[in-house]
Amino acid sequence: MSENTVTVFSAEIEKAFQSAFHSERGGDDKWRAVMESYGVLPLSPKDRESLLNSEMKIARGAFPIELRRVYEQIFGKYAALSGGNTELQNALKSFSMENRVIEYYQKIKPFSGLGDIFKNASSSQTKYSQGLRAAKQLTIKCKSCGAPRLEEMQYDNCLFCGSPLFVKSE
Ligand SMILES: [Zn+2]
Repeated sequence: MSENTVTVFSAEIEKAFQSAFHSERGGDDKWRAVMESYGVLPLSPKDRESLLNSEMKIARGAFPIELRRVYEQIFGKYAALSGGNTELQNALKSFSMENRVIEYYQKIKPFSGLGDIFKNASSSQTKYSQGLRAAKQLTIKCKSCGAPRLEEMQYDNCLFCGSPLFVKSE
């Protein structure tokens, strides 16, 4: 019985993942219906637009922050009925929201294998100018996905992946 609930929890998480993954780039009606079924608000058209034009490129799928919101609902639902069910409690304890969301992001990222190699090859040449730039402006980045925090916008969590963790970096 208790093991069964763990299986149901995992299956529901997986189903949400698949729905987000198979959505059109930036979300579609089918994905919005999934969010609605969990009482989750989608990104505002304005936020969606700025994400689509941001440096955080995605090749497909809904934005990670929306999947996180659905994950949170699923997690909360099972947490509420986990009393006395140690197997489920353990499954919930080992569920890392940050890791799961980043895992999803890795799968919807555009393929950039060669680009990265070229970037590395020329990195020493650009280091000096980068250093100069870094000295001038210190940007705040999301610790989970690396998205820069947009200073002109007011929000607590990362707009791209929903993480509450921000770090200062070059
Ligand atoms: Zn983020």
